[in-house]
Amino acid sequence: MEIKNIFCIGRNYKNHALELGNEVPDQPLVFSKPTSALASADGSVLSFPANRGDIHHELEIVLYIGNEVERGFTVEEIVTQMALGIDLTLRDIQSNLKKKGHPWLVAKGFRNAAIVTEFWDFPGVEQIKDVEFSLERNGETVQQGNIQSVIFSFQALLEYIYEEIGLSKGDIIYTGTPEGVGPITDGEEYTLKWGNEVKGRFTVSKRS
Ligand code: ZN
Repeated sequence: MEIKNIFCIGRNYKNHALELGNEVPDQPLVFSKPTSALASADGSVLSFPANRGDIHHELEIVLYIGNEVERGFTVEEIVTQMALGIDLTLRDIQSNLKKKGHPWLVAKGFRNAAIVTEFWDFPGVEQIKDVEFSLERNGETVQQGNIQSVIFSFQALLEYIYEEIGLSKGDIIYTGTPEGVGPITDGEEYTLKWGNEVKGRFTVSKRS
């Protein structure tokens, strides 16, 4: 599957915005990652920098734009597949960048910073709204949520990206994380679950 642009949404779950001491936004907060940051949650060992402060996991639903996008679209018309992903963040570096008013790119765009599971067919927003998705660290749940607690709906997010930036076939969107973000440590195994179904896993290797 060809992936063109990677868009990410910040602070789209109220309790996560509050856990980082951020205000709840009145319009979507969008950023992007380079495709060089992509990594597959296929059971591999993934390596991360050991000497750049905390790296936080953010578990997110990822949408794949599989059809051409024209104004007036609905989510179901353009999103053909979905996955779970982890938006990894160099949190200490991001905090410094925020203080300086600089872009977040180096805190969000490093190698393996955009982990994604295999994609599956998107059944529609209504069909997924009750499904709990979760992240386990060494078998213990650390993040869990469902889309009923989002601030901006998928429709609102995609329309915003389309109008402000552009949205095309091949783009993927990380749609924001529920609360429970926290640091990853060398040797930990993470499992990404959709309901009771395991969709992906990976092991952390931190190297300086
Ligand atoms: Zn995120």
